[in-house]
Amino acid sequence: MQYQYKIVSSDPKLVFLQLLETKGLKATKQRQLVLDYLLNSKKHASPEDIYRDLCKKDRSIGRATVFRTLHLLEESGFAEKISFGDGRHGYEFKFGRPHHDHMICVECNTVIEFINDTIERIQHKLAQTHKFSPLWHRHEIFGRCHECSLKKDLGTKS
Ligand SMILES: [Zn+2]
Ligand SMILES: [Zn+2]
Ligand SMILES: [Zn+2]
Repeated sequence: MQYQYKIVSSDPKLVFLQLLETKGLKATKQRQLVLDYLLNSKKHASPEDIYRDLCKKDRSIGRATVFRTLHLLEESGFAEKISFGDGRHGYEFKFGRPHHDHMICVECNTVIEFINDTIERIQHKLAQTHKFSPLWHRHEIFGRCHECSLKKDLGTKS
């Protein structure tokens, strides 16, 4: 992940405005809406969800603007893509948040965030033994959340 701009502030909104300027893009209301959405979003929303929700707020927002802004945010390290089991993906806001990894339910796309020092340490050691210098990593565990496991059990019984 490459940062092509200098971070002058810890305020994500200011940094985003600066990023747009560096890219020669206008800080339109629509682009800022996408950032606001990710900033306030507790869940890991897919680009389609984000587009649909933002449409309710501002009908002038275009699908391409939403998708391109998300891509820009991802490229610049603001947002992270989380893959769901079904080939779709969601986004979460990453800037200024501590590192964590994910468990993803393939049935309902629920995402559980976790951080485990032992796993982190083992990954670091593993990289060292391979003389590998890690920059960042993503750890994703796919499976079924508790509720979906229960539903699955009931389903096989009937
Ligand atoms: Zn990790
Ligand atoms: Zn689930
Ligand atoms: Zn997360």
